[in-house]
Amino acid sequence: MISSRFGFNNRQSVYLNRKRIKIRNIVQDNLNAGKYHNEIVNCYVCNSRFEDHELLSEKERHGLELQCVICKGCGLVFTNPRMDKESFGDFYTKFYRDLYNYNLGENNLDSLHKSNYENGKFVHQFVKPFIKDQSKVLEIGCANGGLLKFFKEQGHSVTGLDLGEAEVVYGRDKFGLNLIHKSIDDFVGNEKQDLIIMIHVIEHLIEPEITMNKINQNLSDSGLLYISCPDIDILPSGLIYKSDWLTLMQNAHTINFNKISITNLLKKYGFEVIYFEPGMNLIARKTSNKDPEYTNNYIHTLSTIKQAESNFQKRVLQNKFRNLLEINGVFAFLIFASGPVNSILIKLRIQKYIKSILKFFYRYI
Ligand SMILES: [Zn+2]
Repeated sequence: MISSRFGFNNRQSVYLNRKRIKIRNIVQDNLNAGKYHNEIVNCYVCNSRFEDHELLSEKERHGLELQCVICKGCGLVFTNPRMDKESFGDFYTKFYRDLYNYNLGENNLDSLHKSNYENGKFVHQFVKPFIKDQSKVLEIGCANGGLLKFFKEQGHSVTGLDLGEAEVVYGRDKFGLNLIHKSIDDFVGNEKQDLIIMIHVIEHLIEPEITMNKINQNLSDSGLLYISCPDIDILPSGLIYKSDWLTLMQNAHTINFNKISITNLLKKYGFEVIYFEPGMNLIARKTSNKDPEYTNNYIHTLSTIKQAESNFQKRVLQNKFRNLLEINGVFAFLIFASGPVNSILIKLRIQKYIKSILKFFYRYI
C-alpha cells in the first residue's frame, strides 16, 4: 500500500452530505452482503494474473472498500477485484448520480447542455487539424448532446450514445440530435465513423476488450479516436485533485491511465496514438494490426504515485504550519498593538523586528 491512510476504514476523503453518506453506506452494505459481486480480472494490457498485481489502496474517495492495484508486468493501474457487470449496472442505475452529486433536474439539463457545448468548441479546435469537413462523428457518453450540437453546426454528421435516458430524450426533443439510448457494446452502426469521441469514459470501462473492439469495428480505416481522461502523470504537479491519489480513486473508475498505459491498451486493440497532450487529451488512429507488444511502465508509474503522495503530505504539513503561524500572528498583533505594552515596545523598537521575522517565515512557507 502507498501509506497507512489508504487502508479501508470507511472514512471519505471528499465532502459528503448526509444524503451522500447514506448512499455510500447502502453501496458498501451491498458489497458486504454479497448483493454486489466482485470478480478478479487479469491485467487488461498484459493479461498478467492477480498474483502479479501489487496493492496500492484498499479504499476510494467516498470511503468505499476498493482494491486498487498496479500490474508489475506493465504498470497498468486498475481495480482488482472489481464489481461484475450486473452489479455495476445496478449501481449506475440507482446510486451513481446521487453518490457523485450529478443528479440533474430539468434546469440542470440546460446547464449541462451549455457546458458540453462549450467543451465542444475546445474539442473541435483540438481535432480540427486532423479531420475532414463533413465527417461522421460518434460520441460515446454524449449526455444530452451539447458537444455534438457544436459539431453539427460545423457541418459534421453526428450520432451520440448514452445510458442516461432523460439526457438522450432531452437532446433529441429539444435539438433534434441523433442520440441513442444505448451502450457502445450493444451498438450496431449502419455506417463507419470518421471520428469517435470518448470524454471521461475510457476510465469507466468494465470490459475494455469488448468496448475497444466495438469502437474499432465502427471506425473507418482512416478514422480517428479522441480520448480525454484523468492523467496519473500530472498528479504530482497538484493541477488535479491537489496531488491527492486518494481523491483521484473512485469506485466508478475501473482503470487509471497515464500516457504509456493508455498507449499500451490502445495498441492492443488496433490504435496508434498520433497526438498526445498531458492532461490527458489524445488522438489515435486505426492501424491495420492489433499489436500485443507493450512497454512496462511499472517503475515510472509507481514512483509518480509515490511522488504525488509525498507532495500531498508536504502540502498538508505546510497548511498546518501556516494556520499555526496565522493564529500566532493574530495573538502577536493583539499583544503588541495594545496600549502601554505597545508604547514600551515601540520605544524598544522590538515590534518591527517581530514583524520582519514573521514576514520572513510567510515568504518561505
Ligand atoms: Zn499488465
